[in-house]
Amino acid sequence: MTPDPQSSDRGALEIAERHERAASELIRETELQLYIDGVWVDSIGDARFDVRDPTTGIRLAMAQAGNAADIERAVTAAWRGYETWKTKSPAERQTILTEISDRVEARAEEFARLDSLDNGKPITEARGDIELVVDHFRYFAGAARTLEGKTVPVGRDQHVETIREPYGVVGQIIPWNFPLLMATWKLAPALAAGNAVVLKPAEETPLSLMEFVHEVGDLLPAGALNVVTGYGPEAGASLVEHPRVSKIAFTGSTEVGRGVMKGAANNLTDISLELGGKSPLIVFPDADVNRAVDVAIDAMFYNAGECCCAGTRLFVHDMLREQFVEEFAAAAEALVVGDPLLEKTDIGPKISATQVERTEQYIKLATEVGGQVVTGGGRPTDDRLGRGNFVLPTVIERAPHEARAAQEEIFGPVELVFGWNSYDRLIEQVNDVKFGLAAGIVTDDLTTARRAARDIEVGNVWVNQYNEFPAGQPFGGYKQSGIGRETARETIEAYTRTKTINFRVG
Ligand code: NAP
Ligand code: MG
Repeated sequence: MTPDPQSSDRGALEIAERHERAASELIRETELQLYIDGVWVDSIGDARFDVRDPTTGIRLAMAQAGNAADIERAVTAAWRGYETWKTKSPAERQTILTEISDRVEARAEEFARLDSLDNGKPITEARGDIELVVDHFRYFAGAARTLEGKTVPVGRDQHVETIREPYGVVGQIIPWNFPLLMATWKLAPALAAGNAVVLKPAEETPLSLMEFVHEVGDLLPAGALNVVTGYGPEAGASLVEHPRVSKIAFTGSTEVGRGVMKGAANNLTDISLELGGKSPLIVFPDADVNRAVDVAIDAMFYNAGECCCAGTRLFVHDMLREQFVEEFAAAAEALVVGDPLLEKTDIGPKISATQVERTEQYIKLATEVGGQVVTGGGRPTDDRLGRGNFVLPTVIERAPHEARAAQEEIFGPVELVFGWNSYDRLIEQVNDVKFGLAAGIVTDDLTTARRAARDIEVGNVWVNQYNEFPAGQPFGGYKQSGIGRETARETIEAYTRTKTINFRVG
């Protein structure tokens, strides 16, 4: 059926109006400032950039492109803030972080809508992000009470004890795919451990973090939390290379992460990196096809494929393959692509037009080497979505595993399906990528699941499910997917250093 152009126009207008209404309700200030030393200030430079709505293209706000001089101010303020923050007892830090989580929880729906608007993620998924924000602040509030040193027996005439101390000032840089959640994964453990922070959000999605600072800023001493918006190569790189930043925590692409590591090397600044992935999902021959399809849909199309851990390489046993691909493609086609603010939407727009082009380029690369598009393959034809950065959920079969589309991170809703019949060959192929972030396994056989989980070179394995992130569970990568673990007990430890004190006895 040919869409009626008038009703398409009306549809596009309806989406635009809905988004303008949401923006005027949710965005406190359309001219954002930097947050340094407990106050909102203007950047020392004049550079500004637009924060856009990826669904409609409208400008939501204008942000300031912080520069090296702003980072300098923020780092100085953070050291002052640290002087106060470090005097708080673990119990006081726990109380403050708990209050932060309570305040976010009280306005959870607003934060979820703000992330949906700014990032384009479906509102139903954004709510899940904010639940995790609340859960992670609560978890690290408790963890603030758990940091302990030890005594080390070395003989009668010495007494050795260790204490755990915060780094002082930590620099944090985050991506745009889970705006407030990525900020939380970094802020909650760093603050819980007693550090002060300078954080640079992603250019594309500063809005929920800015509202978060408005909401909770008064709970922290001035300077304990500073937010400098800006471009990666300027604000980000100045933070990484700053000689008075004692630790850098970065989440983003492997390519930028490599540069961050080099920059941190100048001052031998300690570093943790959460980077990209090309994660496998393996369907074993005993799997229930319906369940495998559900897990695969979640693994691949959650957040429109803009997940570092997305299960983008799907290995289905040859016995199930034909039936699986048919049902999986049908389920992908049934996903509702559209306005992320609507409850029924499963797939919102990608973050930017550049990301759409990048995804299309990878689809093209896959088809050039023999890949066959089973469903999707590009932008939707629905004119109502013409102003947004939409890509249809795409399934590709028969591309060789060496193909760039199978080896590189696409960061869009594009699944590559492979068949398998020999376990040893499967594991070889599964591990034949430079990344090692996550993997999924679908089987009812525990022994098979355990064996495969051990054989796959990744930091995280989900069995019969995907994308589960309870606080307390360590998350991070092997190989080129990163260094260090987030969201767990070891994360708060990683925001501290060991100091050894050796007493002479007698
Ligand atoms: P990106 O381009 O690497 O950017 C990430 C952050 O780094 C942004 O804030 C960016 O600033 C900043 N940046 C850029 N160049 C920089 C430089 N030279 N020095 C310091 N900072 C710099 O990644 P993205 O496209 O935003 O996010 C997607 C990537 O993040 C994917 O690869 C994904 O896998 C990864 N990711 C990993 C995890 C994980 O936990 N492993 C979680 C989420 C995402 P601008 O805003 O100016 O670009
Ligand atoms: Mg945006």
